[in-house]
Amino acid sequence: MENKLENKKRKSWKIIYRQLLVAAGASLFLTGCGAANIRQQSAVDTAMGTIVSQTLYVRQEGEQTESESAAVMRILTKLEEQELSWRIADSEVAQINALAACEPEESLVTVPISPSMREILAQIWQISSDSQGALDVTLGRLSRLWNLDGAAAEDTVFSIPGEEQIQSAMRDIGYERVQLTGETLELPQGVQLDLGAVGKGIACDRVSGYLRDSSRITGAVVAVGGSVVTYGQKPDGSPWKVAIMHPREEGNYLGVLTLKGEHYISTSGDYERYVTVDGVRYHHILDPATGAPARSGLCSVTIVCDSGLQADALSTACFVLGPEQGLALAQSYGAEALLVEEDGTMYMTEGMEDIFSENP
Ligand code: ADP
Ligand code: MG
Repeated sequence: MENKLENKKRKSWKIIYRQLLVAAGASLFLTGCGAANIRQQSAVDTAMGTIVSQTLYVRQEGEQTESESAAVMRILTKLEEQELSWRIADSEVAQINALAACEPEESLVTVPISPSMREILAQIWQISSDSQGALDVTLGRLSRLWNLDGAAAEDTVFSIPGEEQIQSAMRDIGYERVQLTGETLELPQGVQLDLGAVGKGIACDRVSGYLRDSSRITGAVVAVGGSVVTYGQKPDGSPWKVAIMHPREEGNYLGVLTLKGEHYISTSGDYERYVTVDGVRYHHILDPATGAPARSGLCSVTIVCDSGLQADALSTACFVLGPEQGLALAQSYGAEALLVEEDGTMYMTEGMEDIFSENP
């Protein structure tokens, strides 16, 4: 990559306050309505530990037993409960973790996995490898030790873990020591999975599968926390507008993405789930190399691409890697990226320049 960085570097931060309908999560969307037999369905609910905001454009035809937005919620809840959550004992991830925790010391544990989990892990492993381990979903012990999601939600009292505890948890990190072989996963005893960095992106992939299968839905924008999927079009043909939250001015937004058709947008930031101790911000994106919250100089990363899992995985990985390496990683996936440093400096890919408009 020739040095595109310098000319993409801009100072920003001159944000004018605007009153907006603010959905929680890193993004929110702005919608309008129109056309005769197409109705707008809007819903805000919670799933996967975050707020889910939906705007669906639905053709009024045929009999429906369940509203489309209720069907979307059902898909998300099922994904969380049956597949991804390490907190829910019956989920596939929790069962993998339970088996990996039980086996005798030093041994390799072989766990059967579903085809869908295999596909998910194969994609994650590729991004882990391409990011030199900046994304590593085997850091379950470390993320539980820091427990920043719990602390940020004020469910638990936060204390900075000791160096020994961190070193111990880090010994159980290592995607490269986990083998995906056919229908099984082989992992060292003690390794614990945490799919928090990709869960909401996978959720967007599942939602878009449903949107495509539903003949009544003509357009939709669904936000699962900081991961958003846009699909189809609005009745009036105008583009989707997805706002990116301002990482340092609560309630403000940094700018807006203007998109047509199907896209996956994911933002990872240090401004939603964090605690401050003695002026130091401890946020929930961890650097597997240091065992502590990532200090790459970035405070927000937004990725736009054609897969939810990829957008979510890349936004976390780029956050850990920092501007130069993060931009290179996003470009190697053909993804558009917007990386924001603490002082407001923004870095973006060329394609991002076309779709992102900063607030005046
Ligand atoms: P959000 O959940 O707010 O969308 P991210 O997608 O960046 O944010 O994911 C953060 C979550 O991913 C953390 O809460 C933790 O569970 C997990 N995590 C943190 N750092 C990493 C990392 N380097 N690699 C993989 N997973 C991580
Ligand atoms: Mg992520």
